[in-house]
Amino acid sequence: MQQTKFLLDEKRIPESWYNLVPDLPFQLEPPLNPATREPVGPEAFAPIFPEEIIRQEVTAEPYVPIPEEVREIYALWRPTPLFRARRLEKLLDTPAHIYYKYEGVSPSGSHKPNTAVPQAFYNKQEGVRRLTTETGAGQWGSSLAFACETLGLDCTVYMVKVSYGQKPYRRIMMETYGAEVHASPTDLTQAGRDILEQDPDSPGSLGIAISEAVEDAVKNDDAKYSLGSVLNHVLLHQTVIGQEALEQMELAGEYPDVVVGCVGGGSNFGGIAFPFIRENLKGNKDTRIIGVEPASCPTLTKGRYVYDFGDTAGTTPMMKMYTLGHSFVPSGIHAGGLRYHGDSPIVSALVHEGLVEARAYAQNPTFEAGVAFARAEGIVPAPEVTHAIKATMDLALEAREAGEEKTILFNLCGHGHFDFSAYEQYLAGGLVNLEHSDEEIERAVAGIPG
Ligand SMILES: *Cc1c(COP(=O)(O)O)cnc(C)c1O
Repeated sequence: MQQTKFLLDEKRIPESWYNLVPDLPFQLEPPLNPATREPVGPEAFAPIFPEEIIRQEVTAEPYVPIPEEVREIYALWRPTPLFRARRLEKLLDTPAHIYYKYEGVSPSGSHKPNTAVPQAFYNKQEGVRRLTTETGAGQWGSSLAFACETLGLDCTVYMVKVSYGQKPYRRIMMETYGAEVHASPTDLTQAGRDILEQDPDSPGSLGIAISEAVEDAVKNDDAKYSLGSVLNHVLLHQTVIGQEALEQMELAGEYPDVVVGCVGGGSNFGGIAFPFIRENLKGNKDTRIIGVEPASCPTLTKGRYVYDFGDTAGTTPMMKMYTLGHSFVPSGIHAGGLRYHGDSPIVSALVHEGLVEARAYAQNPTFEAGVAFARAEGIVPAPEVTHAIKATMDLALEAREAGEEKTILFNLCGHGHFDFSAYEQYLAGGLVNLEHSDEEIERAVAGIPG
């Protein structure tokens, strides 16, 4: 124990998570009950989340202490390294200084264990024996499987059936950590049975898998449900990334002019950006904060800022966010983690209020950037991250044109070691740039209730 304490002090892992909400110069709008359209209180979440998670979801405390046991588990891979991408700078012949925070050193290879571990910890503390969740490509499922294993909880993962068949390695990783993995839809839940009755060969979807995982948690007293993105408590936990980055940039003797992250549900982006937004709001700094999304799922750049459901079936509380409509089915791009119709309510509000900029890029230019990065810096990035890399490279080229010595920081939130079939297809002649026409987006957006 003494030794661990020494290790933690030495390792400079943050002692608290940072909550941006009380520092915001505007009010966030509350989630609404879909039937009554009245604000829902925290108690609405009691059947699926433990009390401490619900408290953190709505807390006004600016700093939430990280439990010592969580910091000890974080110490397996935190603090994560901050690198300067000197070889990429050279390749681009840019006066810009490019830094990246590398979250791919975690057990599951992405930022997701930053929230999986505390979520498992609080559930364990409140007597929960098993966590349920959904997973698409498997990044979240493998992170939660790891967290449950570490804290002695059982873990049940509903994995979208097509991915279960096509991405066996993530499934085997979850099973190696001891999780039970089902191809969703299953015949274990009413939600799954209903789908199978209509379509016995259903390939499944994230929306269906969420319904199954939630039903499993609600119907079993010893089980609760866990979500890997979008909600406030998830973004809160991810702020370890930005707090470490702030300190590491200081050690490097620099401060970023621009911070960049890719946005799916907004958690890795919020994680790196919020501590820098705090500095902006305090009036100390004027850093540009840029979120990058796929052109094929352009939530922040083409969606509407309205109340919508979090899931496809329309059963969750409604949240005010940028959305393409809960019925929107994004194209089958390889950056699976960025295919979500909505976005974090906090990140959405920041974009709406002009505190965060949003950009969108198509698949081929992002993979081109990812390959260039891999060849320069050695790390093969997850397809999601290549969006942040493309934006960073464009900013570095703009800096070259302008002859400006800009400092750019981006979040390399995961490696691409389970994504080589996507790289194989790209290298074999390119991918399709799947974009939706304005009419298609109009149609999806028109389906948003109210
Ligand atoms: C899950 C995931 C994402 C998308 O989720 P956010 O909540 O937007 O961070 C992006 N990149 C990687 C590597 C992921 O695993």
